[in-house]
Amino acid sequence: MSDLQTRPDVELCGGERDPAQRACVQRLPGRAVSLSTRRTPGQSGPGLTVERYLPTKARRMIGAWCFVDVFGPHDLAGDAGMVVGPHPHTGLQTVTWLFEGAVDHRDSLGTEQRIVPGQLNLMSSGSGISHSEESPDNSPPRLHGVQLWVALPDSVRNGVPRFDHLAAVPEQHLPGLKAQVLLGDVAGVASPARTHTPIVGAVVSVDKGAGTGGESSWLPLRRTFEHGVLLIDGDLRVDDIDLRAGELVYLGTRRDGVDLLSRTGARLLLLGGLPFEEEIVMWWNFVGRTHDEIVSARAMWSAHTPRFGRVVGAKGPRLEAPPMPNVPLRPRGRA
Ligand code: MN
Repeated sequence: MSDLQTRPDVELCGGERDPAQRACVQRLPGRAVSLSTRRTPGQSGPGLTVERYLPTKARRMIGAWCFVDVFGPHDLAGDAGMVVGPHPHTGLQTVTWLFEGAVDHRDSLGTEQRIVPGQLNLMSSGSGISHSEESPDNSPPRLHGVQLWVALPDSVRNGVPRFDHLAAVPEQHLPGLKAQVLLGDVAGVASPARTHTPIVGAVVSVDKGAGTGGESSWLPLRRTFEHGVLLIDGDLRVDDIDLRAGELVYLGTRRDGVDLLSRTGARLLLLGGLPFEEEIVMWWNFVGRTHDEIVSARAMWSAHTPRFGRVVGAKGPRLEAPPMPNVPLRPRGRA
């Protein structure tokens, strides 16, 4: 995924500084961002839009999670679906998970990998990588999924880029729920995906009627992590919080777990991690630490330097970086 805003917001991000972090509740509605990069003649579909939950003005990160997009459910009839041509990344991992459909990933390491539901794509940019993400020809008729970015800590952010594909992820089964573990672990069931900060990401399917009878449906959490829950579909109460579908609720730290209740069943995305203590600068598809780093990365992509390599076989056009803002990108103190 690429940030396709023509004038990307300047994002100055950091974890919670306040040591008196506590369990809290903050509702974060998504905002629609257009991802329709190409229409072919005769196509009449609405084009692919995404709902973006992070970063927002109200909250920029949850643990090292720094970018959360949900795309679809989208009917591909009449349009090209996802067409995100070659574009660069620095300082982050991209995590892709589908509920429906298929996406072809190609990157500058020479990787070609189709992803379908139940699988995980994890791309670690290190100091620089480029990739494309596109709906395949003869794609399934619908597309629904998430793309998430994880900020890399300073110790590894300039490392060697790599791509990992998991054909399946481990599952944790607990009363009333099933957790598919993308990153980190849920109550001891751990994903093999390579991580660089204490973090968790999971898709939790909540049974119809869970928590409504005598038995509670308890999702264990790490007390030191901050967490967020994004309701993908269905109805869900988390402790005493009723979620709306398409809403991310930030839960703060200091929770050993949450009670889940669903009348009709639900799917949720759980995101959490140790509050990320480094201040980062996030602009377009780059995560860095200083204005100059971002300027340099942008210039090197524009100049086709070897830093970002070359993606072979993409259908969509190479994405050029938007102009830099007139103000310096400056990591300021966190809220
Ligand atoms: Mn991308």
